[in-house]
Amino acid sequence: MNKGLLIVISGFSGAGKSVITKKLLREYEHYAYSVSATTRNPRAGEVDGKDYFFITKEEFERKIENGELLEHNNYVGNYYGTLKSYVEDKLAEGKDVILEIDVNGGRQVKASYPDTISIFVTAPNASEQSQRLRGRGTESEDVIRARLTKVIDEIPTALTYDYIVVNDDLEKTTERINRIIQDQHLRSCNQKAFLEEFEKDIKTILDK
Ligand code: 5GP
Repeated sequence: MNKGLLIVISGFSGAGKSVITKKLLREYEHYAYSVSATTRNPRAGEVDGKDYFFITKEEFERKIENGELLEHNNYVGNYYGTLKSYVEDKLAEGKDVILEIDVNGGRQVKASYPDTISIFVTAPNASEQSQRLRGRGTESEDVIRARLTKVIDEIPTALTYDYIVVNDDLEKTTERINRIIQDQHLRSCNQKAFLEEFEKDIKTILDK
């Protein structure tokens, strides 16, 4: 069996990356979600081991020291990180593992695993991007301006991603991202195990 692929999905705030990730996981069996570890407190309704592995700062720092994290980041005073063993187990099962992480994390993952497929999601244009941020109705004008400024800061990193996908329609965008990922399976570098098994079976036939 070929190993699964590692996929990073990042995007501008409000571009729809979490909705797309949830939809991919719901509609296709071949994906697994990388459950991150964090030191922040669970929000109402969040389940340990499903939304995050909620751990203490000491446990997190021990994991950093032991090299147990594929990448990590400090976001507004809390640690967030991707668990290497969790991801590797899922890849070995043949699952395509989705990491929905910020651009800092994405950069670290690509550096350690160059075969990672990185996908950056954006709104179709600036006014739609701005509207989506406002549409949440929960943020003050200052926060919205800060997030729009962050969009500008993230553009150089977005350009280092393998794909930039415009989320103009949730249905079509999810399908498009699924197709991008599944096409990568056809690359010869991802077919090694398949051809090795093929060779073994031909030899068995010849030996009969
Ligand atoms: P929240 O506290 O809202 O769940 O997440 C805050 C931010 O941390 C989001 O931008 C989210 O994408 C990011 N994040 C979640 N898990 C990870 C992770 O494992 N690594 C990194 N680098 N960022 C993460």
